[in-house]
Amino acid sequence: MSFDSACTEGDWFALMPRVADDPLALADARLCRIREMFALGVVGLVDMVMDDHLGPWQALAAAGVALPRVQIGVFPSTLDEVIEAGLRTGDEVPDGAGLLRMGSLKIIADGSLSSLTAGVRDAHGEVHGHFAYSLDELTSLQVRAREHGLTVATHAIGDACLSQVLDAYEASGATGTVEHAQLVDRTEIPRIVRLGLPLSVQPWHLVDDWRAMDALWAGRGDDAFPLRSLLDAGVTLRLGSDAPVAPLDPWRAMAAAVHRNTPDVASWHPEERITAAEAFRASVRTRVAVGQPADVILLDANPLDAQPDSATTARQLMGTNVSATYVAGTRRY
Ligand SMILES: [Zn+2]
Repeated sequence: MSFDSACTEGDWFALMPRVADDPLALADARLCRIREMFALGVVGLVDMVMDDHLGPWQALAAAGVALPRVQIGVFPSTLDEVIEAGLRTGDEVPDGAGLLRMGSLKIIADGSLSSLTAGVRDAHGEVHGHFAYSLDELTSLQVRAREHGLTVATHAIGDACLSQVLDAYEASGATGTVEHAQLVDRTEIPRIVRLGLPLSVQPWHLVDDWRAMDALWAGRGDDAFPLRSLLDAGVTLRLGSDAPVAPLDPWRAMAAAVHRNTPDVASWHPEERITAAEAFRASVRTRVAVGQPADVILLDANPLDAQPDSATTARQLMGTNVSATYVAGTRRY
């Protein structure tokens, strides 16, 4: 039981770690990305590691590379190694300069929008797409994670898949997040709230995908990225990028949540826009406390300043200039 056999995307998942056959080149590419992150004010990230069970982070720390905070996620294919190492969600991962933490088990339960593999209900209630697991398989994977102290990040792009994933969380008692949740059946919102599952959403996908959603999810646009409705119902949103699928730029992600398009184009389903302050709150993971080494960024203007409309607010967010970035009390940019 693994996503490789079940999922259309399985072929490239297996290939991706081998694309750069020179591991140093891969490390170099990552260094570049880390520097870009600090320049954007990113102090930490969630890395769903595909290549080996803890990825390159310990090696980078050993080489003296200044790291951001990293929450290391694993896939079912390397879950056993993590369990064997005795790592539970939230544990400090050794040899990581205190910046690496064990994250979640990532389970990919359906496909994606453009490959027509997302598990969706069409306007007539018929279900399409590719489900990587049966409900029983999904539930037992989640149970295994829970029994070993791991939270679960379950990928569900389509609404029908989201329903299956909620069934699994209910049956397994696992905690964690739903990843992506691009299409949400509104009748499921109370269940998301009751289960206390944060939705980890990548708003820039809306900018990339709204035309595809209009074409492929005809008549369902009202339920795509319904951020306003989710927040109003009490769902916790965690905004992110899904890099490298979308740019690793939180300001762009926030702008997309605020205007639901690029600033030069009309908002797509504007009734589901959220405010800059809401988008900002959903993008911050760390807290500042007296006596603790802080993650702090300095900006040369307030990106949350009131603006006449969402397009201008989005433009302001995308124009954010970071003057300095501190990670765990150390200046990194
Ligand atoms: Zn995913």
